[in-house]
Amino acid sequence: MITLVDKLIFVVIDGLGDRRCKSLFGKTPLEAATTPFLDFFAKNGKVGLVDVVDPSIPPTSETGILSLLGYDVLKIKISRGPLEALGVGIQLSDELAFRTDFATFRDGIIIDRRAGRIREGIKELEKAINERVILEDVNFVFKSTLAHRGVVIFYSEKFELSEYVSDTDPGKAGVPPKICKPLILGESEIRTAKAVNEFVRKSHLVLNFHKVNLKRKAKGLLEANYLLLRGAGIGLPKVRKLPEVYKKFWNCIAGSPLEKGIARLVGMNVVDIPEATGDVDTDLRAKVKALFDFFDEYDCFFLHIKGADEAGHDGNCELKKEMIEKIDGIFFSEIFSNVNLKKTILCVTADHATPCELMRHSSDPVPILICGGKVKKDEIDNFSERSCVKGGLGRLRGIDILGLLMRELGK
Ligand code: ZN
Ligand code: ZN
Repeated sequence: MITLVDKLIFVVIDGLGDRRCKSLFGKTPLEAATTPFLDFFAKNGKVGLVDVVDPSIPPTSETGILSLLGYDVLKIKISRGPLEALGVGIQLSDELAFRTDFATFRDGIIIDRRAGRIREGIKELEKAINERVILEDVNFVFKSTLAHRGVVIFYSEKFELSEYVSDTDPGKAGVPPKICKPLILGESEIRTAKAVNEFVRKSHLVLNFHKVNLKRKAKGLLEANYLLLRGAGIGLPKVRKLPEVYKKFWNCIAGSPLEKGIARLVGMNVVDIPEATGDVDTDLRAKVKALFDFFDEYDCFFLHIKGADEAGHDGNCELKKEMIEKIDGIFFSEIFSNVNLKKTILCVTADHATPCELMRHSSDPVPILICGGKVKKDEIDNFSERSCVKGGLGRLRGIDILGLLMRELGK
C-alpha cells in the first residue's frame, strides 16, 4: 500500500544555535540539554548545519525566517515596522511604521530595554500616549502588541515622511538611547527624524508620570517610561506567496506580531492563540494544541517557538538549556506521540544563533533536522551543533531549505 506523505511541520526555534558555554562544561545549551524527543527525530532522520542568510551576516529574526521560507533577503527590502504592524492586522500603504519597545530610562541611561518585560497596564499606557501626545506636523497611532512590544505608525499631511531615518534603540542596556537621525540629508528625512525625536520626548513625559509607572516604581518594578523605536519602514516587500509557489495551504502558529506579520506576507493563515501568555510553558501547550486542532485543514504548518532566543540575549546558558528541555518535553513529546511520521515531514531548525557569550544574534550556522516520510537516516543519533557537523544533510543555505522540504513532500 502506498502511504502518501502529505503534511509538513516546520518548526523554527528562535535563536536556538549557540557556542560552547563554560558554565555548561564546554557544551552548548542544546548539547547540554536532555532532549529525548529531538534526539529521537535526529536519530530517525538526517541532520546538518544551515547558514541561514550568509556565513558573514548575522540574521535578524525577519531575515532569518524569510530566508528559511525560501526568499532571497539580500535582494528584498525588509523593514521590521510594517511587518510588525501587519502581524497585528494593520495593513499600511504609505504610512511610516516602527517597532517599539517599552524601556526603563533613568538619569539619561536605558536601564532595561524591555521595562522588566512588563505585561500589566500596557493598554492604559497605550491610551495615554495616543490621547496626550500631540506632535507639531505629524499624526500617529501607537499600538502596544505583546508585553513590552508595540508599533507606532506616523502619517502626515504636511510633508512626505521618509523611512531613511535611524533607530533610537541602542541595542543594549547601560547606555543612553540614540537620537533618530536622517540617513540621507533630504528635507523629508530631516523632518521625519525631528518628528520621531519629538514623539519619543513627549511620550516619555506622559509615561514617566503615569499612574501605572508610579505603581510599578512603588512595587520595586522597572517602570515603562520610555519608547525605543527601530525598523523604520514604509510599505511591505512584494513577494510571491507560498501557496502560489508550491500549491500547498499553510497555517502559521506563532505568538509574536513579527512572525505573524511575516506569515501573512507570504500567504499563510495565521492562528490567534488567545490562551498564550508569553510564558514559555503555556505558549508551548497552546501551540501544540493549535497544531492538532487545525491538522486536517492545512498541508503545511509553520511553528515559531520563543524562549531560547531571550535566554541567549540575557547571556544565560543554564536558562537556555532549561528552555530547550521544556520545548522538548512539552512540545516535541506531543509531536512524538501524535504525529504519524510515515505521512508527515518534520523539520526543526533556528532562524539564527543567539550565542550566550555574545548576547546577540550571530552568523554561526544553526543545527537542522529533517525526518519522516521517505527521509533516509544518517549515522547521527542526537541533535546538537556538534553532532550536526557530521550529519547527512551537510551544510545548507537557508534559502534552500523550503525547496528541500517540498521535494520530500513530493512537490
Ligand atoms: Zn529570532
Ligand atoms: Zn533575538
